[in-house]
Amino acid sequence: MNTVAQAAKRISEADNTLIVCHFAPDGDAIGSLLGLGLALREKGQRVTMMCADPIPVQYHYLPQWQAIATPQVDAAPTPEASDPVSLIVSLDCGDLARLGKAYDPESLKGVPIINIDHHATNVNFGEINWVDPTAAATAQMLVPLIRALKVPLTRDIATCLLTGILTDTLGFRTATTTPQVMATSIELMNTGASLTALTDQIFNHRPMETIRMWTMALQNLHLEGRILWSEITQRMRERVGYTQNGDAGLASFLSTANEADIAIVFDELGDGRVNVSMRASPGYDISKVAFRLGGGGHPQAAGCTLPRSLSAVKTQVLSLVQQAWNEQTREK
Ligand code: 5GP
Ligand code: MN
Repeated sequence: MNTVAQAAKRISEADNTLIVCHFAPDGDAIGSLLGLGLALREKGQRVTMMCADPIPVQYHYLPQWQAIATPQVDAAPTPEASDPVSLIVSLDCGDLARLGKAYDPESLKGVPIINIDHHATNVNFGEINWVDPTAAATAQMLVPLIRALKVPLTRDIATCLLTGILTDTLGFRTATTTPQVMATSIELMNTGASLTALTDQIFNHRPMETIRMWTMALQNLHLEGRILWSEITQRMRERVGYTQNGDAGLASFLSTANEADIAIVFDELGDGRVNVSMRASPGYDISKVAFRLGGGGHPQAAGCTLPRSLSAVKTQVLSLVQQAWNEQTREK
């Protein structure tokens, strides 16, 4: 039996499934969580969807996003959550730590995990590990899984899954956008997902605070060799009222500079940690550096979170990235 069939069998047989995705969720994490969750509900199965962080406002157009539980907020568990969980499905997440509070090792001890992901740096923490780094998004992998579960796609499921694909391919612009990605996306569109509406939601809207934050970060760019970096400090966040997770695409924007092969944004989180968002041009691989630092990602987009001061993190990361750039340039 192949991995998809194995995963489908285990999921079909499960009594009460907990589906989780990584904290600071992006469109692929949320779209995958909802896409599979709605499919299992269509099938009449008991399921709890859980994410350690709240769903960002940007994704509140997604059907039933309110059904995603947040461990800190939902003190009273849903009926499903109060019953023993028989299976955990982890989506779009490279390691257990990145599930944050959505995975409580104490209460979930011994519960089998199915790990479905497309990050090359995935550490295979599940009982079944279906990790496909050639997939553009975890949401793309769920289309054959839902087929194997014998659940017909609905417009709502397709909307969630196309959101995941569009987010991770930056609107079909990344090198991971293969003919297979297009074929899957057409299937989702034929089921009723609107490419126009989703593209507009995902890429054409952002809060004004984000633009103000970008304005400040862009005034403080540093180009060292072919590494371009900037930072979002806690002071900047407070000044413009920027409370969102992440850099809202700033690292991807910096990576468009002709003068840079690698772009980095250091984001001071305010709890003593710094999130590092990295992007590399094709021909460079930034995921190995992220992995060495306890994070992960893809060759062209990776990240990590480090429990040190902003200046200590900058020194360490910039030195490792410069070293990786030197090695990778030499190998060219
Ligand atoms: P971003 O810079 O957009 O936050 O992340 C880029 C890519 O790296 C995404 O695929 C994201 O899931 C992954 N990534 C970012 N931070 C981490 C991390 O700390 N651990 C792991 N495993 N992956 C990360
Ligand atoms: Mn993804």
